[in-house]
Amino acid sequence: MRLNVKSKFSDYNIIIENGILASAGKLIVEMLDNKHLSVRKMFIVTDSNVDKIYGDTLKSNLEDVGFDVFKYVINPGEDTKNILTLAGIYSEMVEVGITRSDMIVTLGGGVVGDLAGFAAATYLRGIEYIQIPTTLLAQVDSSVGGKTAIDLPQGKNLVGSFYSPSLVIIDSEVLKTLDNRNLTNGMAEVIKYALIKDRSLFEMLTEITSREQLLDSLDEIIYMCCSIKKEIVQKDEFDRGDRMLLNFGHTLGHAIEAHYKFKKYLHGEAVAIGMSRITECAYKNKMVDEKILIEVRSIMKHYGLPISDEVKNKELLGYISKDKKNFGEDLNLIIVDKIGHGKIIKAKTDFFVE
Ligand code: ADP
Ligand code: ZN
Repeated sequence: MRLNVKSKFSDYNIIIENGILASAGKLIVEMLDNKHLSVRKMFIVTDSNVDKIYGDTLKSNLEDVGFDVFKYVINPGEDTKNILTLAGIYSEMVEVGITRSDMIVTLGGGVVGDLAGFAAATYLRGIEYIQIPTTLLAQVDSSVGGKTAIDLPQGKNLVGSFYSPSLVIIDSEVLKTLDNRNLTNGMAEVIKYALIKDRSLFEMLTEITSREQLLDSLDEIIYMCCSIKKEIVQKDEFDRGDRMLLNFGHTLGHAIEAHYKFKKYLHGEAVAIGMSRITECAYKNKMVDEKILIEVRSIMKHYGLPISDEVKNKELLGYISKDKKNFGEDLNLIIVDKIGHGKIIKAKTDFFVE
């Protein structure tokens, strides 16, 4: 399955197929031919977990089609997404002689994608890059939208840029080695897409009852999610208006993550609590029926995602007002008033009744 994403600056394909990692070299050559580019060096950035399982396969696959391949392995985890690791990547690229006409290939989850994407955006004022996301979260979330970033000690994703890849290769087969917690983490974003935009996806999700069945359906699910994000992002490239729908569950989710200093929950888990809680508030504010609240909570539980936490909404208000998506006095919030339909509302902090 292929999706073509168009933005003001670029036009690239997302190719989704089970087992496609083994054809990465061929696909990259095809893309370069179409763009009449000739690239000699490929600089792979990956983390040590992913490297152990897929690093050599990718490297030799790229060598087989004639590239000169370098691989840079970083430590796994969000703590690595910082300016020091970035500096290490730049130095190594200079060391091995990466020029404007060479490319970065990111192989890993959101951490690797964000970090190496930002390296691509900034090294020599920008070189092309190819994204091979290996977590479900990264496959459905960072493949579209071109966001790259690093963290600062003061907060997550505080430095970054919009910079689209030249090609995204999504192999759902690699998700078989992902642990349950990280798979479930990605499902939170999948559920988000279903709730804000796609009732049929929601129904499909309710019918899946095992990890095996889920893994078998993921190609189609990932395609649906990337299509939804693509439609929304193409309408609203620079993150105002409609793109806010993608923020469903995220205002509270980010606050919960920050409240626990990013230790207690993974991103998707916090967003799952955020989606449940905001729906609860919408219900208490008489904006949605109880039936919606029940459906939202039960799909989260079906996938083993958390729906509540002991922290009170009022303890989160400080984080919420700092959230960069809330300009001016009113909060911009997303609620789901029907399954498959998200909407943007303006509210004051008293919306968050307990
Ligand atoms: P996210 O995409 O959720 O931001 P990370 O980049 O932090 O995630 O990756 C989450 C964890 O999963 C990391 O420890 C990473 O090394 C590991 N990982 C990523 N992809 C795979 C995979 N396909 N198989 C096994 N482990 C993986
Ligand atoms: Zn998210």
